[in-house]
Amino acid sequence: MDYKQVEMPRRKRIALIAHDNMKQDLLEWTRQHLDMLKHHHLYATGTTGHLLENDINIPIEKLISGPLGGDQQIGALVTKGMIDIIIFFWDPFEPMPHDPDVKALLRVAAVWNIAVACNRSTADFLISSPLMTQEHPYKIPDYEKYLAKRLNKES
Ligand code: PGA
Repeated sequence: MDYKQVEMPRRKRIALIAHDNMKQDLLEWTRQHLDMLKHHHLYATGTTGHLLENDINIPIEKLISGPLGGDQQIGALVTKGMIDIIIFFWDPFEPMPHDPDVKALLRVAAVWNIAVACNRSTADFLISSPLMTQEHPYKIPDYEKYLAKRLNKES
């Protein structure tokens, strides 16, 4: 894979998702880090987003509910370079009927070199990073080169 360097903006685009048993944890975590989170652009899956917005009273761009495709919508934003960080409190104890969505989102986040926290401890480290308030150069797949190589192989 060829990579290219891009600049992560100072104002991060953060996606927040929590499975049902984890929603209270995420609410508590966002309250704890509100001073930092309010400087960034927040996205969330449908139910998580509504609960957060009511609780912390800061604007959140809400996608459709996870089981109806919200995780995939976040994945699509990742491929467009519109998400920098994913905070995903998924439930390790209860398999979800939409588990393939979880796997798909984590895979696409790995492909696009997105910072992902899947538990509270990692989320604490991420949100406390000095990079949260700076522009940050990082590498993502170079899609033009990737496509050119694939097309070359076909011809
Ligand atoms: P929800 O979706 O925020 O709509 O509950 C989260 C998920 O289950 O992926």
